[in-house]
Amino acid sequence: MAQASREPEAVTGQVPGHLPPEVQTFVQCLLDQKMTRLECRGCPLRTKPMVVLDLLNCAGFGPVDVYFMALNPGREEVVQWRPLVGPAGGEFHALRNAYIPTASAVLTNLFLCHTANQAEVPDVASVASRCRGLTRQIASRFTPRIWIPLGSPAAHAFGITGPITQACGKVVHKKGATILPLVHPSSLFHRRNHFLPLLEQGFQTLQELLAA
Ligand code: SF4
Repeated sequence: MAQASREPEAVTGQVPGHLPPEVQTFVQCLLDQKMTRLECRGCPLRTKPMVVLDLLNCAGFGPVDVYFMALNPGREEVVQWRPLVGPAGGEFHALRNAYIPTASAVLTNLFLCHTANQAEVPDVASVASRCRGLTRQIASRFTPRIWIPLGSPAAHAFGITGPITQACGKVVHKKGATILPLVHPSSLFHRRNHFLPLLEQGFQTLQELLAA
């Protein structure tokens, strides 16, 4: 691929050194595409840094147990260049370690550039649509047993509408894919007593699906 002129890391992103070499090359390719895509040039997040993906218990592209898709990278994610490592990520990994510690997993987001909060993205669906050409490239590199959208916007991307609290933990089969929507772990900061049982039940279902 032709190299776009290099922009500051604050605008593009970094390739995490812990990823397998083939995945590092792929991540760099996506960072480069941001510089040239028309969809990115018109995106309100054009000047924000980009975080692509992380892998757990996984040696590279191909089959994985689960594919987690959250919303987009927050502050801590662009410090570590990894999705789901901020405060909400801490909650997420505590549950993941409790229920599916050895499952192979892809971690990524509905759209790939950073915001400090959701208020910076007035039209989530529009940004997600602009980003789809990149996120589909990520999804196409893996064959998950189970797709896990985290939160309502990510669930909508899978065609799951309605309140995420009702969809959480309920298995959906679509076009040969198994989808298990969960509430976003950041919900635990608002109404922990309400959302923690939902998430625990969802992870319990995920554990059972992977054991089947
Ligand atoms: S969020 Fe997606 S579409 Fe928008 S600038 Fe970033 S990579 Fe491009």
